[in-house]
Amino acid sequence: MIEIPETIALSKQIKQKFIGKTINRVVADTAHHSYAWYTNDDPDSYPDMICGKTIIDAEAYGGKLHVNLTDKFGLMFCDGASLRYIEKEKKLPKRHQLLIEFDDGTYLVGTIRMYGGLYAYQETLDVGYNLIARSTRSVFSDEFNSDYLMKMSDKLDVKKTSVKALLSKEQRIPGFGNGVLQDVLFDASIKPKRKVSTLSEEDFQQLVNSIKEVLTLMADSGGRDVEKDLYGNPGGYKTIMSKNTYKSPCPRCGDGIIKESFLGGSVYYCGNCQE
Ligand SMILES: [Zn+2]
Repeated sequence: MIEIPETIALSKQIKQKFIGKTINRVVADTAHHSYAWYTNDDPDSYPDMICGKTIIDAEAYGGKLHVNLTDKFGLMFCDGASLRYIEKEKKLPKRHQLLIEFDDGTYLVGTIRMYGGLYAYQETLDVGYNLIARSTRSVFSDEFNSDYLMKMSDKLDVKKTSVKALLSKEQRIPGFGNGVLQDVLFDASIKPKRKVSTLSEEDFQQLVNSIKEVLTLMADSGGRDVEKDLYGNPGGYKTIMSKNTYKSPCPRCGDGIIKESFLGGSVYYCGNCQE
């Protein structure tokens, strides 16, 4: 899944590669995927909507990647959307959910893994979680602080709610998912299953610090190494707690890394370093 750091890294690569290019042809939904989301469930409307438009910018917020086109049109990609820059027709993948051909003969190809969004729109995109992402404060802003995180938890049953649920569920922090969660909690020395009611003020402050520091490092490194960039290369951030590493010892203490299923996804943590 593309989360906050990957959408930031992708937006930079899209800017480098696609600004000024005009869309010649759009093919959507050729390989049907039941969990590929299109605007109004109508991929057939895409060619008329965006052909002839030029890419003018790309930006990321709340784990959503927006590509801005002329005349206030745009594209938005999220969740399991995977994007590739392709230079030659013969290199195109056989199966894809969105293919955009540009006036210089290059392509932007979108595929969906488990589920994800490939949206085209004019003016505004009216899907609920996009509006949430626009209106929620960025984790990189000063307003995202321990007070904010404590207020967020005040609305929950903190004796039953885990730290994982607080941070990565219900779009409370848009774009912060189960992927980035693992290394943030390792950095904060907190277990994913720990109940929010056991967190001290210092723990909340540590969580905020870890969120900002780890996500900044991930974004500056071009995303996590468990995700691919626009050229199909893994991101430059080496995950510490992930499917790539859990068979190796904890880099801090040497104990084994624990992998468990928890709240719809695997969590990876060190039972010794994280409380
Ligand atoms: Zn450890």
